[in-house]
Amino acid sequence: MKPAKRVTLTFDNGPTPGVTERVLDILSAGKIHSTFFVLGKNLESPGGRKLAARAHSQGHWIANHSFTHSEPLGDRPDAEYARREIEDTQNLIGALARPEKFFRPMGGGGLIGPHLLSRAALQLLQAGGYTCVLWSSVPGDWKDQDGWVEKAVADVAARDWTVVVLHDVPNACLPRLPEFLDRLESLQVEYRQDFPEDVLITRRGEVVSPRISQIIA
Ligand SMILES: [Zn+2]
Repeated sequence: MKPAKRVTLTFDNGPTPGVTERVLDILSAGKIHSTFFVLGKNLESPGGRKLAARAHSQGHWIANHSFTHSEPLGDRPDAEYARREIEDTQNLIGALARPEKFFRPMGGGGLIGPHLLSRAALQLLQAGGYTCVLWSSVPGDWKDQDGWVEKAVADVAARDWTVVVLHDVPNACLPRLPEFLDRLESLQVEYRQDFPEDVLITRRGEVVSPRISQIIA
């Protein structure tokens, strides 16, 4: 018998009132634990804050995905920009963080390249002991609300362990999330909450990825 395909689900850009609570209900019905890569700006509102706390209390991991989600870190070399985007968000996450602090850079629609991190941002991730997490599947739920399920299933079938990026924002994965989970159930996947080494840039501040040279020139 072939070993089960492993899948780590992640939800980026929330929390979003009206969306994230429904994602949480669907995940808990499937007894699935995931990671929410949240935006600092969304934690400034009481509604967003409450949703992050609820996700945390249900066993999901709360991770950092920048403050403004505006300009990719690699396009802005200044250290102060990196500090605001990363540290201000981490401060808002506060006690909801894992002991291992996870950060995922934004921008480029899933492409891996020098837009992801500036040298200053990398230095901050190293000094702060962050684990920098990329992905292996970006099926595009925010731009193709129907087609993303097929793409994500194909990605899962093609690898031993897939880290899937979905979005708990309006007009993204929510309507077809139950169908996606049904498809994964029929593939008998093993859900994992942790991340395989091949999607990490740093682990606890140490650079672990050979892809670092594609990101930092
Ligand atoms: Zn994002």
